[in-house]
Amino acid sequence: MSDTLTIQSHKGPYDVLFGDDARSGLAALAAGDRPLHVIVDERVAALHTDRLAPLLAGPSVLRLEATETNKSLEKFPAYVDHLVGKGIRRDHLLVAIGGGIIQDTTCFLAATMLRGVDWAFCPTTLLAQADSCIGSKSSINSASAKNILGTFTPPRTIYLDVAFQDTLDPRDVRSGVGEILKVHAIDGPDSFAALAADYDRLFSEPDLMLRYVRRALEIKKAYIEDDEFDRGPRNIFNYGHTFGHAIEAATDFAIPHGIAVTIGMDMANFVSSRIGHGTEDHFRRLHPTLASNYDGFESHPVPFDRFLAAILKDKKNTGTGSVTMILPGADGRLAKVTHAADDGFTSACNTFLDEVRSQ
Ligand code: NAD
Repeated sequence: MSDTLTIQSHKGPYDVLFGDDARSGLAALAAGDRPLHVIVDERVAALHTDRLAPLLAGPSVLRLEATETNKSLEKFPAYVDHLVGKGIRRDHLLVAIGGGIIQDTTCFLAATMLRGVDWAFCPTTLLAQADSCIGSKSSINSASAKNILGTFTPPRTIYLDVAFQDTLDPRDVRSGVGEILKVHAIDGPDSFAALAADYDRLFSEPDLMLRYVRRALEIKKAYIEDDEFDRGPRNIFNYGHTFGHAIEAATDFAIPHGIAVTIGMDMANFVSSRIGHGTEDHFRRLHPTLASNYDGFESHPVPFDRFLAAILKDKKNTGTGSVTMILPGADGRLAKVTHAADDGFTSACNTFLDEVRSQ
C-alpha cells in the first residue's frame, strides 16, 4: 500500500512521497527527459554524494551554503544569472535539495523566474521534512528584514527520505523537533501529551520519529488545505514564532530556527499567563518538554533592547506599539491576540528571558 500523502493546493494536488517511493521518484527525475536545474545545500551534496550522484551529475547544479545571507534578495542576481546561463525555460524543473534555506531560495526563484517554473523538493532537515515542505510558502530576506519577501508556490512533488536525517547535527534534529512540538500543541492537549511522553525515545528510534513526522504533516495538511494563503485558521502556525523570530534577530541567528521557536512557545505560554490571558497551569504543563528541547540554549544571551525592537517590527503586527501573536487562552486553546507592548508585556518578556528560561 502506498503511504503517499496528497496535499490540495491552488495549483492542484501535490504528493509527498516517502521512503522507497521517494528514492525511486528521485532516480526517475534524474533519468527522465525533463531538463532539471538542481539547487543543493553544499553540505548535503558532500555528505550524501552517492545517494545524490545521478542528480549531481546533471548539467545545471547550483551548490549553496545554507546561510540566511544566501537567501537574501541581494544574492538573487547571481542565482538568476546562473539559471539563465544554464538555459532555463518554463517547462524545465527546479529541484531543491536541502533544508528550509534551500527550499525558500528555490521556491522564490520558481515563483518569479519566467513568471513561474515548476519545482520539486527533497527536504533533508527534520524541520523541512516535518513542517516546511508542505504549505506553499517561500520567504526570503532583504538586508533590513528577515522573511520579508515571499510567495505561495507549492512544489510539484516532495521526496521525503528520512535517511538524510542520519547526518544532521543534534541541534538541527532538536530544531525540527521544535516544529513537531508546535504542530502537536496546535492539535491539542492530547497530541502534545502523547508526544511529550515519547520525547526522549524520539532521538533513538527512527520509526517513531517517522511516525511523528508524518503525523505533523497530516495535522498541518488540514490547516493549509483550508487556508493556504494564511488569512485565518492557518495563522495559528505562528505559535512561538513572534517571540522566536525576535530571539533569532536579537542573537544574529545563533539559535537554530526550531529551537528559537521552542523558546518562543514557552515564552508565549509564560507571557500569556502574566498578562492575564492564559494560565500558569498551562505554562507549567508544557514547560518541561519545551525546556528539554532548548536545553543548551537556556542561558544563551538575548539582548533585551534588540529583542524588543525586533518584536515591535514583526510583520504580523497591525498597529504601532502593539504586538500580534498566538497565545494560549484560559482554556489552553491557541488564538491570535493583539496586545499593547506596555510595561506588563515587556516586563513579562524580560522576566522570562532573564530568569524563567534557565530554571
Ligand atoms: P537550514 O536549511 O537552515 O539548514 C540547517 C543546517 O543543516 C545547515 O548547516 C545545513 O547545511 C545543514 N543540513 C541540511 N541538511 C542536512 C543533512 N541531511 N545532514 C547534515 N546537515 C544538513 O535548515 P532548516 O532548519 O530546515 O531551515 C531553516 C530556514 O527555513 C530558515 O531560513 C527559516 O526561515 C526557513 N523556514 C521556511 C519555512 C517555509 O514554510 N518556507 C518554514 C519554516 C522555516
